[in-house]
Amino acid sequence: GRGDQHAEVVVLGSGPGGYTAAFRAADLGKSVILIERYPTLGGVCLNVGCIPSKALLHVAKVITEAEEMGDHGVSFAKPKIDLDELRKFKDGVIGQLTGGLGGLAKARKVTTVQGVGTFTGPNMIEVAGDAGTSTVSFDQCIIAAGSEPVKLPFVPHDDPRVIDSTGALELADIPKKMLVLGGGIIGLEMACVYDALGSKVTVVELMDQIIPGADKDIVKPLMTRIKGRYEDILLKTKVTDVKAQKNGLKVTFEDEKGESSSAIFDKVLVAVGRRPNGGKIEAGAAGVAVDERGFIAVDNQQRTNVPHIFAIGDLVGQPMLAHKAVHEGKVAAEVAAGHKRAFDARVIPSVAYTDPEVAWAGLTETEAKAKGIKYEKGVFPWAASGRALSNARSEGMTKLLFDPEDDRVIGCAIVGTNAGDLISEAALAIEMGADAVDLGHTIHPHPTLSETVNFAAEMFEGTITDLM
Ligand code: FAD
Repeated sequence: GRGDQHAEVVVLGSGPGGYTAAFRAADLGKSVILIERYPTLGGVCLNVGCIPSKALLHVAKVITEAEEMGDHGVSFAKPKIDLDELRKFKDGVIGQLTGGLGGLAKARKVTTVQGVGTFTGPNMIEVAGDAGTSTVSFDQCIIAAGSEPVKLPFVPHDDPRVIDSTGALELADIPKKMLVLGGGIIGLEMACVYDALGSKVTVVELMDQIIPGADKDIVKPLMTRIKGRYEDILLKTKVTDVKAQKNGLKVTFEDEKGESSSAIFDKVLVAVGRRPNGGKIEAGAAGVAVDERGFIAVDNQQRTNVPHIFAIGDLVGQPMLAHKAVHEGKVAAEVAAGHKRAFDARVIPSVAYTDPEVAWAGLTETEAKAKGIKYEKGVFPWAASGRALSNARSEGMTKLLFDPEDDRVIGCAIVGTNAGDLISEAALAIEMGADAVDLGHTIHPHPTLSETVNFAAEMFEGTITDLM
């Protein structure tokens, strides 16, 4: 039957995947309803993820660069931090973007319905909002309900001194001693912010390296820099207990030899990964299969096991990244509108916006070795880049991996300032099947960090003549 409202396409969740899918479907002539539980559009990415973290990382960069200029003849006073103003800056950025999305939705006649949506049948969602419950029916649906931070059973998550990434971005205060539990991208980005603001930061990671998805050599310059700045970085170490005490949070660690130790922190940021929201939407009522972890399986057209229901973004699998969600959102909307389209991207770049940044796209050396894939490489150390030296940040490195059969680029990893922007050239090269000569013969502007991609190709070719 029909719900209180009906649309040809209903999108559940308004993160980067959901709003992209809704806008694309509307642009292709479909009537669209977008269901979101929060009052603003944009999901995790705009409200409590990518955007606020980057606003604070920018501030962190300004602070640490100013500090380090002391070594080059220019000294500034110690920064005075007004947390209220800083929060206003961050919230202003979010407001501008979420407000913009609201306007874009109106312009496209996308109807937004606020409330928590759950399926009640193969063509029906019930939405529980502040004003009561209503029903929305659809011909086709795109599920884009995203993910949430993982909680740990031995951590007192209801203690206000235990925070997740959302809590960290709220900037309630600047703790004196902070533990970042989890050395992945989100944990390290927040560590970078709080270190710059003046906290003594300790990072603890279970694996034998930080950012476990990236090659070890690429992570090394970041590791060296934060080792010099942070209180401690504990690798191959497990947190086994966190106890709330009057004087702080007592954390128990267990190292690889099984030896225990403990320390007290003012705040603990838990950043051990994200969990898909697939298990929270009563997908079964629509016949949509959800696995035990909460992921929804899709084919290369983003279709679930129910042909008129699609799923996109964090809840369909790794990597949980905004640009992946956006790409999938376009594919789902176009397929729903009857276009011939499938997800056939060769690479999804990953970036840690730490200082220095760490970025990679396509094959990594670790993955190549694990899978026995043959490769050759070209590596350019930034110590030979005129621009990196001029920036007083020459610790970076650009690495290209090539297919030994035809010299085509199959992977790239970059560490250094602005690595996240630089990785796009390699992503384009891989998508277009470019080879070493293509990158080596393309004239890059001098002096730029982008030249390091050109130089890495020339290192591989053996044609590099003049460094810097
Ligand atoms: P989400 O953004 O999770 O949005 C899902 C939306 O659905 C939410 O608004 C939620 O309220 C709504 N919703 C869920 N269930 C229901 C329901 N039942 N009814 C109604 N509404 C519902 N990625 C990057 O690419 N780059 C970065 O720099 C980056 N930085 C990050 C920093 C942090 C601190 C965090 C936490 C994440 C970061 N990410 C980053 C990851 C990125 O935010 C996610 O990959 C992206 O937001 C996923 O988009 P999505 O559309 O799948 O879902």
